[in-house]
Amino acid sequence: MITFAPGPSKVYDALPSYLQDAYTQGILSANHRSAVFMDLYRDTESLFREKLQMPADFTLLFTSSATESWEIISQSLVEKASYHLYSGSFGKKWLEYAQYILPATRGLQLPAHQVIPVDQLHLGPEFDLIAVTQNETSNASQVPMDVLKALGERYPEKMISVDTTSSMGGIVLDFTLADVWYASVQKCFGLPAGLGILLLSAQAKEKVARKGERGRYNSLSFMLENAESYQTHYTPNVLGIYLLHRVLQDMDPIGQVDARLRGRMARLEEVIESSPVFELLVENPATRSTTVAAIAAEEQVISAVKKAAEREGISLGGGYGPLKSSSFRVANFPAITDTEFGKMLDFLASYRP
Ligand SMILES: *Cc1c(COP(=O)(O)O)cnc(C)c1O
Repeated sequence: MITFAPGPSKVYDALPSYLQDAYTQGILSANHRSAVFMDLYRDTESLFREKLQMPADFTLLFTSSATESWEIISQSLVEKASYHLYSGSFGKKWLEYAQYILPATRGLQLPAHQVIPVDQLHLGPEFDLIAVTQNETSNASQVPMDVLKALGERYPEKMISVDTTSSMGGIVLDFTLADVWYASVQKCFGLPAGLGILLLSAQAKEKVARKGERGRYNSLSFMLENAESYQTHYTPNVLGIYLLHRVLQDMDPIGQVDARLRGRMARLEEVIESSPVFELLVENPATRSTTVAAIAAEEQVISAVKKAAEREGISLGGGYGPLKSSSFRVANFPAITDTEFGKMLDFLASYRP
C-alpha cells in the first residue's frame, strides 16, 4: 500500500538502512552533552544551510512538534499580541493556542482561494507579530513568497512567523522574508513523527532576549542558551535528529526538489481538471499548494474513490475537519517516488464512479 496521506506520510524507502545505521553507530546511546551529539546537531544545522538555503545567522532548534512551536512563539517571543492570517483548520488552531496564552491575539480568516490582501490590512501597534500558515494542509492552499515579502514591506516593525509544517523540505522558502519558521518531520521530510523544527533569525533571538521570558522547560531563552553549544535543554529525540540528518544528507538541493514537486503537481492538476467527477478545492492557482492537493467531489464519490484506490494499493488522504466528507487529499511529498505518484495519477485519470 502506498500512502498519499499528508501526514503522517510515506517515509523514505531508505529508512530501514538509516535505522540500522543509527543502531550500529551507537548514536542512540550517546549522551546529549557528548561530542557525538554536538557534532550531529552542528552538522544538521549546516545541512539546513547547504540543502535548504537557511541563512547563516539563523539558529536551528528542536521541538517535539509544530503544535509545541505554536505555544513557544506566544510564550517566549510575542511581546504584546500576534495577528493571524489564515484560511483553514491548522491556522485556526494556531490562533486558538495563541489566544489562550495571550488573550489580545486576533486574526483574520480568508477563503482558501483568496490571496492575502496586504494593502487592505490595518494592523495597529498592539500587534508585534504576524502569524501566517504558509501551507494550509487542511484545504491545500498556500501563501506565496511574494505575499510574505509584501507583508514584511508593509509592516517592517512587526515580526513574521511562518507555519511551514507541510512545505519545509519540499519547496524553496526564502527565509530572509520572515524571522520564525517551523515544521515537523512527518510531512515533507518523510520521517516518523515526533520531532519539530524551529528556525529563528538573529532578530528573533534579540526579541526573545528583550521579552526575557524564562523558567519553563521550553522557554526559548533556555533552548537558545543550550543551542549555543549544540546541546538541548532536555534529552532529545536523538533518533529523530539522526534520521533528519541522513535525509538532509541524501536529499537534492531544495531548488531541484521544488522543481520536481511542481512538475508533478502540474500533472495532477491537469488530471483533475479534465476529470468529469473531480474538482480542485482551491480554484485560484496563485493560492494552491505545491505539496498537498485537495480534491473535491460529491460525498458518495469521495468514499467510493477511496475504496477503489485501496483495491489498487493506493491509500488516499482523507479530507480534514469540516472538509472531511467533501474532499480527499493527496500528498506530493518528496519521499513519494515519481513512479508511485504516476500510479496514483493513472488511477485518478481513469476513475469513473
Ligand atoms: C501537521 C500540521 C501541524 C501540526 O503538526 P504536529 O507535528 O502534529 O504538531 C501544524 N500545522 C500544519 C500546517 C500542519 O500541516
